[in-house]
Amino acid sequence: MLARILGSGAAGAFPQWNCNCRNCGGLRRAAIKARARTQSSLAVSDRGRHWVLFNASPDIRVQIESFAPLQPQEGVRGTGVAAIVPVDAQMHNVIGMLMLREGKALEVYTTEVVREELTSRFPVFTLLSRYCGVNWHQLDPASGGGFTVPECAGLRFTAVAVQSKAPPYSPHRHDPHPGDTIALWVEDLGTGRSLLFAPACGQVSPELLSVMERSDCVMVDGTFWENEEMAATGLTDKQARAIGHLPQAGPGGMLGILAELKKPRKILTPINNTNPILDEASPERRQVEESGVEVAYDGLEIVL
Ligand code: ZN
Repeated sequence: MLARILGSGAAGAFPQWNCNCRNCGGLRRAAIKARARTQSSLAVSDRGRHWVLFNASPDIRVQIESFAPLQPQEGVRGTGVAAIVPVDAQMHNVIGMLMLREGKALEVYTTEVVREELTSRFPVFTLLSRYCGVNWHQLDPASGGGFTVPECAGLRFTAVAVQSKAPPYSPHRHDPHPGDTIALWVEDLGTGRSLLFAPACGQVSPELLSVMERSDCVMVDGTFWENEEMAATGLTDKQARAIGHLPQAGPGGMLGILAELKKPRKILTPINNTNPILDEASPERRQVEESGVEVAYDGLEIVL
C-alpha cells in the first residue's frame, strides 16, 4: 500500500487567509520555523496507478498538481483519482468535489447521513448532477463497514464509526447521528499491513482503540493541542472538545492514548493553524516528537 498526505492542515489551512496568529503571522514573516499546509486529504493506492482520496479539500487542485500520479497519464483526459471517500459532510472535506466537475462521474463513498446532507442542506451532489454526476456508494459502519474500490482491488477498506461533530450547517450539529463521521481502515491484501485514517475524532471509543492497536500506521486527529487553544486567541469561544476534536495535551488527551500503543507508527493529521506543534522549535513539538509521534506534512509518503 502506498499512502500520501496531500494536505495536513485543518479547515482554513496554514496560514489561514485572514489569520495573523503567532503561527500564521510567524510563518508569513519567517519568524518561526514551520511549513505551510493545505487542507486535509490522504491518497491511498495498491500499486500507485489508481488512488482513493480520503476527503476532497478546497485545495484539491493544487494537491493534484503537486502529485503526478493523480494527473492524466495518457489520452487527452484522465485522472489517477479512482474514488473519493469523505469522512463527514464538513465543507472542507467535500468542497473539492466541485472542482472536479469537468470529468467523468465521480465515484463517491459516504454514509447515508452524509449523502442526505450533500443532497439537501449543502447540495454538492445535487449541483454535480448537472455537471459530471456522482455515482454514490453507501458505507454502513453499523453492518461492518467493509467495502472495495474496483480500481484498487489490492486494498480492503472498512468504514469505522467515530464520535466527532456534524458540520455547523447540519441539524445533527447538536444531535449526533450514527454515520455523521467515520474513520477509514485500509488493509493491503498482499502485505497484510494496515493503515487507520481518523482525522476527525472527538473521543477514542473502545472499538476505535482496538483498530488502532492492530494497525501498522495510525493517522489521527491532530487538530488542537489544548481544549482552550482557539479561545486563547480571543477571537472565538470555541473549545476543541465541543467541536469534535480530542486535544493532544493533558489527561485523556491523544498523546496519552497513543503512548499506550506498541505496534503502529503514529502520525498526527490534520493540524489547525493555532496549534503550537506547527512551530518546529516549540516545546510542544518537542514533547510530541519525544513521545514517538510524528507531525504530518504535505507530501509525506508511507509504504505499507
Ligand atoms: Zn492562524
